Amino acid sequence: MIGIAKSMARTFQVFLRRPVTRNYPDYHKPIPETDRAFPLLLWDTEIDEPFCTGCHACERACPVECMTVLMKDNPNHKSLDGTSSRRKIIDKFWIDYARCMRCNICVEVCNFDAIAMNNTWEGHETSVYDRKDLVMDLQQLLSQSRDGNINEWVPVLGQTNEEVNAEPAATDEPKSSEG
Ligand code: SF4
Ligand code: SF4
Repeated sequence: MIGIAKSMARTFQVFLRRPVTRNYPDYHKPIPETDRAFPLLLWDTEIDEPFCTGCHACERACPVECMTVLMKDNPNHKSLDGTSSRRKIIDKFWIDYARCMRCNICVEVCNFDAIAMNNTWEGHETSVYDRKDLVMDLQQLLSQSRDGNINEWVPVLGQTNEEVNAEPAATDEPKSSEG
């Protein structure tokens, strides 16, 4: 009899508990500040061109060799009556997200602040049927920054694991809200 009462009490307790799951993908959990998805290229809105000069530093440093970079002479350079001080500019750029291990090394070695780790849901939700669709080209890599839809991952020094993993206060954010 006591056992039944205990079971019923436990059942009732669980019945009253707030749900611990979310209706993904209709609802998104807010992404912690310290989370990071994949690298993206940044757009220089002042000059209206990419920051990337195609210098190959990130390509050489990438431990899994998932980047391909081609540079060209910048047709918008001042010497050609343009507005840019970048003599060279990125021509073609591919990153294979299927191989990228999100190590942030490409961001660290870039001398032009031209690349950043993205931490929006858009950056995380990269499911595809064909792995070839995870090879991002220059336009795909630039589009989020050009549209102002990028939330750069910034390392927060001195944070404890508990702080990093702490769940943000807001819950059940609709899918449209990023970050
Ligand atoms: S995050 Fe790391 S693995 Fe991914 S592209 Fe950059 S250097 Fe390569
Ligand atoms: S992202 Fe930075 S390091 Fe990589 S090619 Fe462009 S300018 Fe060079």
